[in-house]
Amino acid sequence: MSAKQDDDLNARLARVRVVLINTSHPGNIGAVARAMKNMGLTQLVLVNPAEFPSGEARARASGATDVLEQARVVSSLDAAVADCAVVLGTSARLRSIPWPTLDPRAAAEQVLDTTESAEAALVFGRENNGLSNEELDRCNYLVHIPANPEYSSLNIAAAVQVLVYELRMTLLDQLGRRDNRFHSDQPRATAGDLEQLYDHLQQTLTELDFLKPSAPRQIMRRLRRLFGRAELDRMEINILRGILSATREKLAQTKTEESER
Ligand code: SAH
Repeated sequence: MSAKQDDDLNARLARVRVVLINTSHPGNIGAVARAMKNMGLTQLVLVNPAEFPSGEARARASGATDVLEQARVVSSLDAAVADCAVVLGTSARLRSIPWPTLDPRAAAEQVLDTTESAEAALVFGRENNGLSNEELDRCNYLVHIPANPEYSSLNIAAAVQVLVYELRMTLLDQLGRRDNRFHSDQPRATAGDLEQLYDHLQQTLTELDFLKPSAPRQIMRRLRRLFGRAELDRMEINILRGILSATREKLAQTKTEESER
């Protein structure tokens, strides 16, 4: 991971602000700060919070008190988002008039397109009754986390966490920084190595009377399919072949002992 890519990632996330409207529980503000810092976001804007600053917010922020200390307190949503090119409002319910609605993944793409050159805002509503229609009117899009329809309202900090996690994942994708493949510390086995393993396996299984030369060859085909998926490396092939050699030696020894008896 290059330093340049890290700078890009941080710069893009620094242009996304989280706006909380009229939050009543200071603990939630702290939990939001923590969720943001975990995913690399720094800009928190509080519109008329019930209590701020607060000891409870600091306690819940854990190591993210820097995000709290830099938080801006403003008196209206307009003031919070005036300089943003895109404003996304999050909602636990779908509103009466259809409004363009995105899921968190699509929302992340929308936000990140914007942050190449401008600021973007994610707006979160009151714990008891969400965002008002007037507030939703100020949003280009709504974002709805597709939760259980019978119980769709998440705690506000949990909702922030879902949104900012998707932002970070999308950005890692865009920067080519996601790599879930396993990389062995040994060279990958070749087709030739695998053919030798299959020969060895077939001989051993035949000597064990597990494979009958007359029976259909489905077992070897299924074993090929199994090992073909396993992305074996050379060392693993050597271990397996070592086991097969030891099995054959033991078998030969047992047979000799039996014939000598
Ligand atoms: N009782 C309120 C829910 C408020 S939950 C209502 O019915 O609107 C507090 C905030 O968390 C919401 O305003 C929204 O910003 C966010 N939130 C909670 N659940 C969400 C969901 N399923 N999708 C998107 N945002 C959600």
